[in-house]
Amino acid sequence: MSTTTINNQLRIHSIESFGTHDGPGIRLVIFVQGCEFRCLYCQNPDTFDLKGGKLMDLDEIVKRAVNMKPYFKKEGGVTISGGEPLLQRKVLSELFKKLHAENIHTCLDSNGRLLNDEVKSLLNETDLILLDIKHINNEWHKKLTGLDNISTLKLADYRESTQKPMWLRYVLVPGWSDQEEFLHELGQHFKDYKTIEKIEIQPYHKLGVHKWEKLGLKYELESTLPPSKEEIEKAKKIFSQYFKEVKVN
Ligand code: SF4
Repeated sequence: MSTTTINNQLRIHSIESFGTHDGPGIRLVIFVQGCEFRCLYCQNPDTFDLKGGKLMDLDEIVKRAVNMKPYFKKEGGVTISGGEPLLQRKVLSELFKKLHAENIHTCLDSNGRLLNDEVKSLLNETDLILLDIKHINNEWHKKLTGLDNISTLKLADYRESTQKPMWLRYVLVPGWSDQEEFLHELGQHFKDYKTIEKIEIQPYHKLGVHKWEKLGLKYELESTLPPSKEEIEKAKKIFSQYFKEVKVN
């Protein structure tokens, strides 16, 4: 697949300074453009189009990150989220190298859609990956995202082989991804991975619905409600049997 990046430019959707939800500490979070998944609950459907957004020079991003260094302190740094960052893997490898040259921590929030040598190079420059597991069951994964989960699971395996840290993220959607048997299956699948430091549960919400409407896209989860406190607690309890830390975002 071709990428839309040109030389030293990243195609971005938006930037959040002082982010505290996407990786450790205070972070500069860059949301990139382009995604091949079609998660029914996506809160950023305006990132789908790989040709949308705007181009930003890597040096400009590095400059912003360097200016924020006093706020990063020991833990913080730069997170690339999306959209799906792996679609711009080559230019992101360059960016992460530049950030490392400035001693800045790098984090990638990805759905793991792709694993090839370029992705492996990027992962080797990535201090922490936040890997989104949309569903452990492939049929449900396809229903929820339009695509399979095979490469996501392979990417997790690869990350484990490199012994570099990983957090899992799981969007809990009532009736779609909260089935007890599959929460256990996910736990069983990952319980022996030594690089997984924690799993984050992200309760489903409807904040992005208006964007779907604006884009003229049909929002299929119209009648789905966010999980109740009890439902979130139940999922947390199940994951706690398999992971050393479970956090609700
Ligand atoms: S992977 Fe992320 S950006 Fe892509 S469709 Fe799913 S939620 Fe949206």
